[in-house]
Amino acid sequence: MKAFVMNGFDRVGFSDKPVPHAGPNDAIVKTTRALICTSDAHTVHGAIGPRDNLTLGHEAVGIVHEVGSEVRRFKPGDRVVCGAITPDWGDLASQAGHSSQSGGALGGWKFANIKDGVFAEYFHVNEADANLALIPASVSDEAAVYCCDMMSTGFMAAENANVPIGGAVAVFALGPVGLMSIAGARLKGAGLVIGVDSVPARHELARSYGADEIVDFSKSDPVEQIMKLTGGAGVDSAIEALGGDVAFQNAIKVTRPGGVISNAGYHGKGEFVHLPRAEWGVGMAEKTITTGLCPGGRLRMERMLSMLERKRLDPTRMTTHTFKFDQIDRAFEMMDRKLDGIIKPLITF
Ligand code: ZN
Repeated sequence: MKAFVMNGFDRVGFSDKPVPHAGPNDAIVKTTRALICTSDAHTVHGAIGPRDNLTLGHEAVGIVHEVGSEVRRFKPGDRVVCGAITPDWGDLASQAGHSSQSGGALGGWKFANIKDGVFAEYFHVNEADANLALIPASVSDEAAVYCCDMMSTGFMAAENANVPIGGAVAVFALGPVGLMSIAGARLKGAGLVIGVDSVPARHELARSYGADEIVDFSKSDPVEQIMKLTGGAGVDSAIEALGGDVAFQNAIKVTRPGGVISNAGYHGKGEFVHLPRAEWGVGMAEKTITTGLCPGGRLRMERMLSMLERKRLDPTRMTTHTFKFDQIDRAFEMMDRKLDGIIKPLITF
């Protein structure tokens, strides 16, 4: 089968690989749709260290091709979504309620990290009964593929932000995770949702997902603008969807005492992330910082699919470009360099 792989730092290309086989609890899925993620580009630039002939990608849907002897809930021919994170459900971290950390910090992240990812004609899923979910007939592959990561991560950010009904929320960075954080904050009942970004095309999308106000940090100081929009009080919840030291500090600055800073961004650079000491309330202002990695698993995926089935939101508005699998190298380059206003490129198989 054909796979799109990383070959050392900053090198990608196609590779021929054998179709994987399923162990007793596993499934093999024939890929139908996939999305490229900014974190795929991070991986290629060395975020997780060197990898050779590693298939990229972690956001995909498809048709079950083969299941292991112990798999009960799925059979060949089923149309399924698989979470970007595929935990080991028997691990103690999973039993403690932290399945994305099964097997160690971020250990639930296997695709394109410790095993081949989904940018291939077929991909392997561990613990299929726990990690796959059936896609309802009324939900398209093009929409369902957003459950894997963007919806799950964005909604996690809003869940971790403990948004009070009617409360004020600021979302830093309006990439796809930030956009889904906006949608998540609205679904949680936020009264005022402020999106922070400098790219005009993202402003429109953010408004369509429920942002009431947009703060353009390239025009004036975002902290001042957010304080002004909240009458000097600051927000109840700030969501950091970038993974930037300054954005993280700003998130702390604009959060009122007792509020929550929910980090969804991937802090891939520098030795430290900094806390602004005074605005953090010198460590005593009851400002809580929460962190998380995209939740996976069947229950999570079924909940995401339920939102699509009942048309609570339309994630496909984030699909700015579509490519066939044999053009994925071009799509990858565009995503890496953020060309042509790209937000999410959809890959069809
Ligand atoms: Zn992703």
